[in-house]
Amino acid sequence: MIIIMHPQATEDEINAVTDEVARIGFRPFMNPGVERKVIAVLGELDVRKADLVEHFQSMPGVARVELISDLWKLASRTYHPENTVVKVRDLEIGGKQVVVAAGPCSVESEAQTIEIAHQVKAAGARMLRGGAFKPRTSPYSFQGLGEEGLRILARAREETGLPVVTEVMDTHDVDLVCKYADVLQIGTRNMQNYPLLKKVGSTGYPVLLKRGLGSRLRDLLMSAEYIISEGNHQVILCERGIISFEDSTRHTTDINAIPVLKHWTHLPVMVDPSHSTGNWQYVGPVAKAAVAAGADGLLVEVHNDPQRALSDGPQSLKPDKFAHLMEELKRIANAVDREI
Ligand code: PEP
Ligand code: MN
Repeated sequence: MIIIMHPQATEDEINAVTDEVARIGFRPFMNPGVERKVIAVLGELDVRKADLVEHFQSMPGVARVELISDLWKLASRTYHPENTVVKVRDLEIGGKQVVVAAGPCSVESEAQTIEIAHQVKAAGARMLRGGAFKPRTSPYSFQGLGEEGLRILARAREETGLPVVTEVMDTHDVDLVCKYADVLQIGTRNMQNYPLLKKVGSTGYPVLLKRGLGSRLRDLLMSAEYIISEGNHQVILCERGIISFEDSTRHTTDINAIPVLKHWTHLPVMVDPSHSTGNWQYVGPVAKAAVAAGADGLLVEVHNDPQRALSDGPQSLKPDKFAHLMEELKRIANAVDREI
């Protein structure tokens, strides 16, 4: 349920409503990033729903009370009809610009990361991606450089000015990753790691939330809800392919997810065509389809020597191929009234 106050409602009237929400056992929530005078009532509304609507409707300063039928409340367009624009340094994700984040799957060395960072920046990427904590299927595979990898990413940012998005896998590492990163990435395998979602929600850092491999869009939004309900509305959703019976590609890009999410939520939507296809040859076409379908950004793996990459070489674009793709993407973006 949301309580929408009159634009002229006084502080006292707003406080009286939030106090009343708490008094009857719910959690009043005013998102610090939301300008409108909207108080969300969080908790399980029961059969008293109709009475509560009437009760709050009669309080001074209240314009109207609305029930949100979606399971996700703060992520819904009823609560926040306008698109959320997530700010990352000078970048805006969810605005007119389609933001491309590119870089290696894993940070492997300073030289590798800085070289790729310069290359993707020259091609028009606005953000650098790279993993320092890697969720690998096998415990014997390269697990990432840890803090050293984060230091390298910060050095690459210093050199190129590109903000950094990197994965955090463990609640215990969140503070550490915050020291270096601009955007905290929650990987597909952790989409429903609720303690981790709560922890990143408490940081106030922008979060890139990747869709679970076998998760429905409604589950993705419930995970976003965990982050927002901690007071952090800076959430970017990311479609990164789901499991299907089709085995010609690593996963299956759910292009449908873009219009559905844009309908259901105000949060920006990015697409990762690298992990969804698992094959560099298919990354470009899927990236173009995503921009045409309304994605607010892309996450693309680029490596200067894919054959020797410590992870995900087969799906990594070489820098020249990436630069060519960016030129094509600019034309697609213009065709749908966006910019890259
Ligand atoms: C990644 O982006 O580095 C990654 C591991 O992606 P995902 O969690 O989508 O597999
Ligand atoms: Mn990868």
